[in-house]
Amino acid sequence: MHAHDLHVVAPDTGVTLASIDPQRTPGLSGSKEDERARAEAELADNIEAMKLLQRRLYAEGKRALLVVLQGMDAGGKDGTIRHVLGGLNPQGVEVTSFKRPTERELAHDFLWRVHRHTPGVGMIGVFNRSHYEDVLVVRVHSLVPEAVWSGRYEQINAFERLLAARGTVIRKFFLHISKEEQRERFMARLAEPEKQWKFEPGDLAERKHWDDYQAAYETALARCSTDDAPWFVIPADRKWYRNWAISTILRRTLEEMAPMPPKPDFDPASIVID
Ligand code: AMP
Ligand code: MG
Repeated sequence: MHAHDLHVVAPDTGVTLASIDPQRTPGLSGSKEDERARAEAELADNIEAMKLLQRRLYAEGKRALLVVLQGMDAGGKDGTIRHVLGGLNPQGVEVTSFKRPTERELAHDFLWRVHRHTPGVGMIGVFNRSHYEDVLVVRVHSLVPEAVWSGRYEQINAFERLLAARGTVIRKFFLHISKEEQRERFMARLAEPEKQWKFEPGDLAERKHWDDYQAAYETALARCSTDDAPWFVIPADRKWYRNWAISTILRRTLEEMAPMPPKPDFDPASIVID
């Protein structure tokens, strides 16, 4: 089965995250060494294919691709951007990382700051965190009343419908790591001077809310996976599997979009350059 079908959250169907092992590697088989070698070879292949498709998407200039990355701290959002999207032409990619909202942003509706970063035609937009934080961290910490956040699922669906109607294809990935894997990645961050800046003591406070986050994710995945903008749950304890699965899904997405450069409105053969 294709990675797309293995991981897509069917619209109107929930997922139980606890029943999905973050170490799984479905779609690959053999010894772990063989799987990893194949995954890495296919990642390189997928990137090559995406490069060509990206060029055509840009030349066509009619549609856009929006990639949403969500996950717990140390879930691999930055690594995914580096390994899967880092090989594309930077002129055609816009990455936006959503942090705690500023006062100005908080003075508006929660989609205000997001909408202006959606990709224009020809572009691939990547959200490192996204409008989903407004039903995740905001829900877990009751930053707004339940009556407010509970209305956001429908608002998100309407927003994504609007983007889709304008020609934006949306793919949303939840990087599913285990609590133990998070512990190991935090420890690795603390042990490496070059990585210590990434660790925030506040991350440990968030870790205490692990189960609440998983529950908040389950609601978002169940209520906001649509045909226009499906969610994928990617087993992400193994970075090579995560990169393989996401690149495989994005490659297929771009292949299905089948972008084509416009035909010239002149006859190239008739042009003489002296
Ligand atoms: P990092 O991804 O490590 O740079 O951290 C960004 C932080 O911003 C995370 O702790 C997020 O939970 C937080 N954040 C992002 N969006 C929102 C939001 N809409 N409301 C509150 N916190 C947010
Ligand atoms: Mg962080």
